[in-house]
Amino acid sequence: MQVITYRTFGGMWVLATMIFVNGCMKDDTEHTRNFDVQILQTVPNLVEIAILGSGPAGLTSAIYGARANRHTVVFHGDKPGGLLTETTEVENWPGHQSVMGPNLIENMQKQAEHLGAIFVNDTIKKVDFSKFPFVLQTEDGVIIHALSVIISTGASPRILQIPGEQEYWGKGVTTCAVCDAPFYKGEDVIVIGGGDSAVEEAMQLAPYAKHITIMVRKGAMRAAASMQDLLNGYENISVVYHRELQEVLGNGEYVTGVTILNNETDEQYHMPIKGVFLAIGHIPNTTIFNKQIAIDPNGYVSLQGRTQKTTVNGVFAAGDVEDHRYRQAIHASGNGCAASLDADKFLNDGGLSPQMSAQLEDQFFFPQSARVAVLPQLVSFADFEQLTAHFSGPIILDFYTEQCPSCKQMMPAMEAVAAQYVGKALFFKINADQAQDLAEAFKIISVPTVVVLKNGSEIIRYADLMSKSEIRKALKLAYQ
Ligand code: NDP
Repeated sequence: MQVITYRTFGGMWVLATMIFVNGCMKDDTEHTRNFDVQILQTVPNLVEIAILGSGPAGLTSAIYGARANRHTVVFHGDKPGGLLTETTEVENWPGHQSVMGPNLIENMQKQAEHLGAIFVNDTIKKVDFSKFPFVLQTEDGVIIHALSVIISTGASPRILQIPGEQEYWGKGVTTCAVCDAPFYKGEDVIVIGGGDSAVEEAMQLAPYAKHITIMVRKGAMRAAASMQDLLNGYENISVVYHRELQEVLGNGEYVTGVTILNNETDEQYHMPIKGVFLAIGHIPNTTIFNKQIAIDPNGYVSLQGRTQKTTVNGVFAAGDVEDHRYRQAIHASGNGCAASLDADKFLNDGGLSPQMSAQLEDQFFFPQSARVAVLPQLVSFADFEQLTAHFSGPIILDFYTEQCPSCKQMMPAMEAVAAQYVGKALFFKINADQAQDLAEAFKIISVPTVVVLKNGSEIIRYADLMSKSEIRKALKLAYQ
């Protein structure tokens, strides 16, 4: 079905051709957009290139955008730095024999900032690509008007959706060996999956766990041969094939075992273990873009030919959110570069010259310096008792470890919410490796874990990275 419609663009009416394919909007318009400086001078919180997400794709886009002298703003999202912050050594980044994933990300951000990119500790929660400038709304309620958008929101770990998985999330079921491996000293654990991530998770666990069994659902692993070869160096890692995890079992507090199906023999059996590490791939983070741009049946952003263009002119995508084939950090970076070049061309084609940009400077969005509260650190149970004894409001305990990337990613959100609740709630951070009596008292076996207490009782706990709105929701529960 083809529908001819009109859309406003920089105050001018422009003819666009919209085609609906399989229920998804496909906008094949290639018209040159003419930016009207007088109209744009009335638009607040203007951004020339808005980048959603700060993994390798977003950061490379930011480097190119800032270097092209565009007002480039990166919205970190709920997981600043993306999945690369959860890896350890990266051996296939050109120019480095080996580099730690978190260091690579940190250096990319520094480089982008040095070139002039602006970073915002907020997440875009809503977009409206039917308006122009595009309208983006942050979690904190700020409305941004973007002249071009690069979607680099990455992907989130896939889960199995089997009985016991949610009940024991953070109590033995996890997706982050970098974070949680030290909690499994001397224990038997399993890793589910047959890709590179499964190999990495197992190697991360090897110095701690007694034995690690990698369970692969088919007769072969998908991981690169070079990665599989690395496993030969570990006596406490074994790989079994044709195995499917069917149920996670526990005693209410911890995982105690699993039910496994051997899909070759149809035999079902019970295996006593303490930890289940899921490494079964990722799902692209595209929910907020549904019905705004074309998304393929597997949830990836659809692109036009050999470009980073989505189906809306001026909106681009790069990295794991659109790449179902290569899924490598270096490829995401390359696509981020291409997306920024595409965005710059789009702006140039519309006549957004450096002179015009200069006339818009007063309209440009810059983040307000956010109010944050530094969380005090609890070092022992005695410390906890002393500092909370006379407080009747909600108490929020944020358990972390130094090696946990998600814990670091969550800290700015925790500090921002804590600043809004000064005097009304007590927030503490606790290094679970150091304050072991507190970690044991609160039965912590996964980080980050956030425990919310009221009148001495635990009201709720979250064993995952929390966004600002989730932290606020938890506090609301404590006030009910
Ligand atoms: P992959 O998609 O490559 O692998 C996922 C694995 O999980 C596959 O073995 C798949 O099985 C299995 N799986 C999927 N669903 C289920 C299920 N329901 N039950 C059981 N098993 C399931 O994901 P990865 O996260 O491993 O890797 C993603 C990308 O990141 C890849 O491109 C990889 O190369 C890259 N990467 C690179 C690293 C490095 O270079 N150091 C480290 C980690 C990742 P099946 O094969 O049967 O489909």
